Amino acid sequence: MTTAPESVCVLCGEPATDALEPPRRTLARGPDPGDPSYSVTVILPDIALCAEHSLEVRQGKRLVGWCDQQQCRTYGALGEPSACGDAYTKLAPGNRS
Ligand SMILES: [Zn+2]
Ligand SMILES: [Zn+2]
Repeated sequence: MTTAPESVCVLCGEPATDALEPPRRTLARGPDPGDPSYSVTVILPDIALCAEHSLEVRQGKRLVGWCDQQQCRTYGALGEPSACGDAYTKLAPGNRS
């Protein structure tokens, strides 16, 4: 069990009972968006999920996306709007554009 007690499922907000490793490490821009050379490889946090959604994600019935906007940096259901208004995007290597 690697889930912190306060973790909630990224898909439904219920208390999380499971944590999945992110499918891919992704590249994130540094604090200065105007400097494209400032790229860092970030290790994304584990994806906290409740038992039900953990099963669905493992079975491929649900896809978890990531919002890379600085104010968000959270997981959510792929394609759904995040808190900043951008849709959660697929986790992919070298996600540059
Ligand atoms: Zn859930
Ligand atoms: Zn967002």
